[in-house]
Amino acid sequence: MAPASVSRLRGLGLGTLPVAILIAALFVVLVLMRDSVTNSEALSRAFVPLLFAVLAGLGMLALLVGFNVVRLVRRYRQQAAGSRLTARIVALFAVLSLLPVGTVYYFSLGFLLRGIDSWFDVEIGQAMEDALVLNQASLDLNQRVLAKYTEQLLVSIEDRSSTAIALSLDSLRRQAGAIELTVYGGGGQVLANASEDPTKLVPNHAEREIQQSVRAGNNYVGLDSVPGADLVVRVLVNDPLGRPMQMQAIFPTSARIGELSGQLEAAYNRYTELAYLRNSLKLSFSLTLSLVLLFSLMAALIVAFHTARRLVAPVADIARASRAIAEGNYEQQIPLPRHDDELAFLVASFNAMSRRIARARDEAERSQQAVETQRNYLETVLGRLSSGVVALDAEHRLRTANPAARAILDLAIAETTTPVDLDQIAAHHPWLSPWTDTVHHQVVSGRAWRAEVRLQRQEGSQTLMCRGSPLPGGDDEAPGHVVVFDDITSLITAQREAAWGEVARRLAHEIKNPLTPIQLSAERLRHKLLRKAEEADARVIDRATHTIIQQVEAMKAMVNDFSDYARSPQLRPEPLVFDRLVREVLDLYRSAGAGALEVRLAAGPHQINGDALRLRQVLHNLIKNAQEALEGRADGCIHVTTGVREEAEQQRCWLEVSDNGPGFEPHLMERLFEPYVTTKAKGTGLGLAIVKRIIEEHGGIIVVENTASGARIEIRLPVWQPPLQDAQARGTQTET
Ligand code: ADP
Repeated sequence: MAPASVSRLRGLGLGTLPVAILIAALFVVLVLMRDSVTNSEALSRAFVPLLFAVLAGLGMLALLVGFNVVRLVRRYRQQAAGSRLTARIVALFAVLSLLPVGTVYYFSLGFLLRGIDSWFDVEIGQAMEDALVLNQASLDLNQRVLAKYTEQLLVSIEDRSSTAIALSLDSLRRQAGAIELTVYGGGGQVLANASEDPTKLVPNHAEREIQQSVRAGNNYVGLDSVPGADLVVRVLVNDPLGRPMQMQAIFPTSARIGELSGQLEAAYNRYTELAYLRNSLKLSFSLTLSLVLLFSLMAALIVAFHTARRLVAPVADIARASRAIAEGNYEQQIPLPRHDDELAFLVASFNAMSRRIARARDEAERSQQAVETQRNYLETVLGRLSSGVVALDAEHRLRTANPAARAILDLAIAETTTPVDLDQIAAHHPWLSPWTDTVHHQVVSGRAWRAEVRLQRQEGSQTLMCRGSPLPGGDDEAPGHVVVFDDITSLITAQREAAWGEVARRLAHEIKNPLTPIQLSAERLRHKLLRKAEEADARVIDRATHTIIQQVEAMKAMVNDFSDYARSPQLRPEPLVFDRLVREVLDLYRSAGAGALEVRLAAGPHQINGDALRLRQVLHNLIKNAQEALEGRADGCIHVTTGVREEAEQQRCWLEVSDNGPGFEPHLMERLFEPYVTTKAKGTGLGLAIVKRIIEEHGGIIVVENTASGARIEIRLPVWQPPLQDAQARGTQTET
């Protein structure tokens, strides 16, 4: 998972440690608060500050919970990964914690309030008061007895001299069980003193007010404290006999009684105090309990958020990563959770799976690339092939055709296309029906085959050599068929020309040898017999020998033509100004007065690189043919035109010879350039064959056609460009 999303998840809280510290601190403060509630004195002092501390802490927790809830709601609405699970876990925690905590709260609060009320019951208050009164009454009784006893002790002193009193006082003290006995005179002076502690010479005087009150006639008895004894009963009485004397006796109290009465008083004081504070006590108890409830709830919620985050984060990561994988982004690795539990195992398995998917994807891509490369390679090879290659599917529909196939068949379809029916092709390209029929017929057989197909087009016929073989079907590929074919039209022509060359060579060889002896013999016969023979015989001999000699001449010419065609001598090309060459040849015909000859030469200074002798022969042959075609026509006219035009980024000189004769015989159109194709009685049919060969040897093209008025032949030859150095040299010469 991306680090950003990790931090986003962590952002739901403030971090575990600060929150834990806050919760712990709040807990401690709540404990202190509890203690302060139970201690009424501390309550008033510490309760309020503690209450504020708790409220502040709870406020922070509430903020934290609120922040988490808001974030969760937002994420839930955005349908973020893991938000639903988090919401469910948090809700579950909230319910699980609210139920027990709420129940305990409800009952505790009830118990507490009722308990507090019962403490301050009327009966308990009365009992406390009664105990106090009882305590007081018993103390009073005891004191009254002691006062009476002290009076009797004073009465028992008869001799009022201080010496006599001093002598008997200690024994009186011991007898009475007092700690100290003191006798005062009428002026308040000490007459005698006897103490349990012999070192103590000064008596323990009562307070001045008590002394005055006693002197005024009110005897005193009361609890008092003296140094050396905790609590004592002090009795100060006047003499009942009316003598001006007072006696003070200090009796020890029972330690237990003193303690108990002290405790009773303290307990009563505390009770009244608490009874007074009852309502505020109830309030602070219930407040503390409520705060504890709130604290538990919020702590539970924060723990819920934390736990949900810890549990859900890897699940959310997995959800997010699987979504990314589904979208085709396979490089998904999720950080392992810190705890080694089932979630960690799940994350590790997910990571391993996504790695495997990525690897498989890479391999698939690689193999697809390899297939693509292979396909491109195959396409390049097929594209470079001069043979046409087409593939047919199982239904014998054309699936693919390489560029050569499209060029040979003149097919206007894309290289790879939706399969096209062969019949459909034949319908759109009627000249292809012999080919589609043959393919259809052969493919059905399901065997490898070979066939020659002849296509008839407007511009001529075309011969295709086709070979086909069935394609084995693959796992997901139905079997098909592949057809490879070559345009062998020019090959056939060349073969035919070669064959004719061979025929011509043999004919010339076989015929030429006997011709000269025949001619010589005929001439000798004529020479010897013509003069001696009689007139009638002489006429026969004259006509016969003349015919022989003439026919031999014609045969010689024919044999020469044959040998010319067969020999095809080496070209000797040189730069020639095209128009000049044409003009030279035409001048011969002008001077010979060969009928109407219209000449328009427009090639200017352009030159061709040609063999002048052979090119003259071309012109002679063309003009001779035109003249022969116009034989017997009074309005016969031959047009000879030249010019220069750019063709396929190359400049070409062209020459057109046209006449207003009968034109070419249509059925001969395709074979005009073949040897021995002639319509003339004495024709050899070699003229155009030789013309074509010479033009092709010069890198040119020849085209024949019938126009509305007659025959038209056009030849085109590449313009010769002088090499750069020559051109520069010439330029320099011109300048000088
Ligand atoms: P040949 O002249 O010996 O017949 P060519 O090869 O020169 O042989 O010509 C072949 C045939 O082409 C001729 O027999 C003729 O039928 C036809 N031909 C050639 N030139 C013309 C033309 N100008 N007009 C009509 N037909 C022509």
